[in-house]
Amino acid sequence: MVQRLRTRDTKQRRVVLETIRGTLSHPTADWIFEHVRPTLPKISLGTVYRNLSVLKDEGVVREIYGSDRRAHYDAVTTQHAHFICSECGSITDVHSLPECDWRAAKELVGCEVTEQRIEFVGVCPGCQHRSKNLS
Ligand SMILES: [Zn+2]
Ligand SMILES: [Zn+2]
Repeated sequence: MVQRLRTRDTKQRRVVLETIRGTLSHPTADWIFEHVRPTLPKISLGTVYRNLSVLKDEGVVREIYGSDRRAHYDAVTTQHAHFICSECGSITDVHSLPECDWRAAKELVGCEVTEQRIEFVGVCPGCQHRSKNLS
């Protein structure tokens, strides 16, 4: 029985992970829940959250907080920054930032840095376009 439960858990986790990997939109748990339901009709939102927390502990999924103050999930775990639109809340990956030596900053605060997060906030091209058309 335990074995069967574990197999089901593994399948759910795989589907949740594949769903996040299938989009670059940095979805919320609600979005993921809606998109795994066709494959996992019996899954609950609570189970989605539980799987997300396991995936996060395993380091295969990252959590980012958007301008909506909600948790968004990212399966791209290579070092990259995010651009968060303050108008529509969209989160875009920013790759290939110029190399920067952060050692000085780490030494200044005197803490052991385990993770580095870079976020830019502003207005995305879509929202810039929309406000231009309105004025
Ligand atoms: Zn926007
Ligand atoms: Zn990302």
